[in-house]
Amino acid sequence: MEKKHTIYLDHAATTPVKPAVMDVMRPYFTEHFGNPSSIYGIARESKKAIEATRAQVAKVLGAAPDEIYFTSGGSESDNWAIKGVAFANRKKGNHIITSAIEHHAVLHTCQYLEKEGFTVTYLPVDPSGLVDPQELEKAVTDKTILISIMYANNEIGTIEPIAELGAIARKHKIYFHTDAVQAIGNVPIDVKSQNIDLLSLSAHKFYGPKGCGALYIRKGVKIDNLIHGGGQENRRRAGTENIAGITGLGTAIELATADIKGHNVRIAALRDRLLKGILETIPYARLNGHPLKRLPGNLNVSFEFIEGESMLLWLDDEGICGSTGSACTSGSLEPSHVMLAIGLPPEVAHGSLRLTLGDANTEQDVDRVLDVLPKVVAKLREMSPLYHKTGKEGGCNV
Ligand SMILES: *Cc1c(COP(=O)(O)O)cnc(C)c1O
Repeated sequence: MEKKHTIYLDHAATTPVKPAVMDVMRPYFTEHFGNPSSIYGIARESKKAIEATRAQVAKVLGAAPDEIYFTSGGSESDNWAIKGVAFANRKKGNHIITSAIEHHAVLHTCQYLEKEGFTVTYLPVDPSGLVDPQELEKAVTDKTILISIMYANNEIGTIEPIAELGAIARKHKIYFHTDAVQAIGNVPIDVKSQNIDLLSLSAHKFYGPKGCGALYIRKGVKIDNLIHGGGQENRRRAGTENIAGITGLGTAIELATADIKGHNVRIAALRDRLLKGILETIPYARLNGHPLKRLPGNLNVSFEFIEGESMLLWLDDEGICGSTGSACTSGSLEPSHVMLAIGLPPEVAHGSLRLTLGDANTEQDVDRVLDVLPKVVAKLREMSPLYHKTGKEGGCNV
């Protein structure tokens, strides 16, 4: 059968590189290939491009250029922020506070540190995915050296009260890190007024290249290096710079943040049209995440009595790319840690579908999903023993 026109609705997983970003990157693979650490002309060109990008990123965050460090992406930035602060400050204390819904780049880093003698508090979230600032303050001890709370969740889209959480950290003189990988381009960020000491971002989540990110480190933060070697990045992050990636990141972040309001209005309108259509046509469906405090492009809906991955396969057959918080077919019966943290019963968690909209999506895309999805859900429910019985056994029906 002929493959249908692809409708990409997985922008939380990654985004395509914008042509304008590609154009900026291209010369740094070829004519401006010089190693920025060298002293001849073509190397100076690379060096200049990196420093210009540093200023570009700093401006977007309300930071100073020398507070921006380029990395290989969100995962490295998260690892560096958390391990770096933990090891540099272990004489002061060994307690870290994070949330139960963080990305694995944060959660697995914290779990690693637990094996290294640190203790970690994983704050629960409410049913909409929000961290409670009072709960955070209650968790603070005289041993707490770092608080790491994500800006916006990648699965359910909930946006955390970062300024409020940051203020609590500041009040107790504890470093505050936020994984802002999903937030860039969707929320205006100002590290100073929001009391953010460290912030992770990743280019491929805002139409830049994969394998390139940055960590904002406020001047004065005590942090160890993660990648040891040469003296790049002001002696804090070794490795010959990914110049093409860095310049691409700079252009991408500038484009993504040029009109956050306009972007939000347009994308949220599409998202809301999709949500409304789904709730009107499909019974036993519910929205996951906060109804209002959420990323404009994020839609996460659970359909009872069916399993997310089966849904994805049927949608893929129709050229529609989505994602799920369930992983039955990959052998794990556990729904995602985020679904569990917001308290979904397993039979609801397993039927979750995440559709994340982006710049290229149109009303036609939304309407096509609204045409296809109810049929897919109905077909799968027909096949589901849970739908015909009580629906309360839980587990997978693949
Ligand atoms: C994608 C993502 C990461 C990881 O970023 P990479 O650049 O892919 O390593 C970290 N945190 C969040 C919230 C993400 O969405």
